Amino acid sequence: MKFYSLNKQSAAVDFATACILGQAPDKGLYFPEVIPQVSKELIDNIENYSNEAIALQVITPYIGDKIPKKELERIVNETVNFAFPLLKISESIYSLELFHGPTLAFKDVGARFMSQCLGYFAKGNNEKVTVLVATSGDTGGAVAHGFYDVEGVDVVILYPSGKVSNVQEKQLTTLGKNIYALEVDGTFDECQQMVKAAFADSALNKKMKLTSANSINVARWLPQQFYYFYLWKQWKDKNNPPVVAVPSGNFGNICAGLLARQSGLPIKHFIAACNTNDTVPQFLNTGNYHPKKAIATLSNAMDVGDPSNFVRVLQLFDRQNELLKKSMSGYSVSDEETKATLVSVLKENKYLLDPHGAVAYKALYDHLAIFPADKGIILETAHPIKFFDKIEPLIGQPVEVPEKIAMMMNKEKFSTKISADVNCLFDFLTAK
Ligand SMILES: *Cc1c(COP(=O)(O)O)cnc(C)c1O
Repeated sequence: MKFYSLNKQSAAVDFATACILGQAPDKGLYFPEVIPQVSKELIDNIENYSNEAIALQVITPYIGDKIPKKELERIVNETVNFAFPLLKISESIYSLELFHGPTLAFKDVGARFMSQCLGYFAKGNNEKVTVLVATSGDTGGAVAHGFYDVEGVDVVILYPSGKVSNVQEKQLTTLGKNIYALEVDGTFDECQQMVKAAFADSALNKKMKLTSANSINVARWLPQQFYYFYLWKQWKDKNNPPVVAVPSGNFGNICAGLLARQSGLPIKHFIAACNTNDTVPQFLNTGNYHPKKAIATLSNAMDVGDPSNFVRVLQLFDRQNELLKKSMSGYSVSDEETKATLVSVLKENKYLLDPHGAVAYKALYDHLAIFPADKGIILETAHPIKFFDKIEPLIGQPVEVPEKIAMMMNKEKFSTKISADVNCLFDFLTAK
């Protein structure tokens, strides 16, 4: 399989090169030249397959022979070695819980797969690789854990000071070793711009081997397809495929779902569930794409004003908006609605959502009011404990603390404060 740049100014590359470069030299995102089709046997008898076997089948066509089968098997097994349960919340709404990994958010899957792949490609390479990543919340922790102590790889994480939750901050600032946390006096979009500027700087890139770990990297984007196969595996009513609501920020996750569907997976419809950062819902309504400055919300991992993966979504539909709209609807949910949903679902259904899941629930609920014959699934992308400081005042009771978190909260935070200025980042990188 080859991957081409969506800017069409760079050569097509194989999986290994796309994984190491992250972004194409022309600054475009890599995109698969063909969309492989999964076997009908897998779709029809998916209950009989292990999660590992499903993942291996789905990902293999993208990797080709760039990773030997035995090694790929090992990587896949390590990537998905936790549960992905589908729980019933109400008569028509189910929750696929994606937070049972080490950092309690769905990004663990992509980050673990990518770090293992990069680790494999870096073997036998003398030059150290520096992974540079901006995070609006959960990417940082997942990437930090995925790469922790991986030989030959340093990780530098930029996050907006005061705009990530306590637990999220601890997850990226308490590891140490090869993991460096930069606390930026600015917004997530500014962090992302600084990272982009570093990749674009030829002098810096001559000095060090930089790579990205954001969801633009194909090795992070593609394995997110697994979730959608896992929900199909657990979906009882195979004659009526579900509507799937995805809490969306940078649009990597939902784009992987759309890709899985084009590979042959039966999903009735997708809901892009956004918070007040409504660039995509607005686009779906008006046909005009107006990137905006990110607005801080309760569901902070989705505070993105110009989602980088959206060009991939457009490409999946050959840039035909009418086709896209048949497969995906967009909803924007305010913080007030998010809070009210969180409280009412706990009260009426005894299910505690996190703010991102609550955005998806509200969007799906509103959608099902228009299409009452449908049933749907929300992707619950984070454990509520990650946002306990926001949730507890709303529900008036403590959120149960999982053991992995309790230990981490007692650790000391190590971060370097810098202003939102690319030169500060360059200084840090060259001095590190
Ligand atoms: C990153 C994240 C999202 C958004 O996912 P995208 O792929 O960026 O759209 C949603 N929920 C949580 C908890 C996240 O960490």
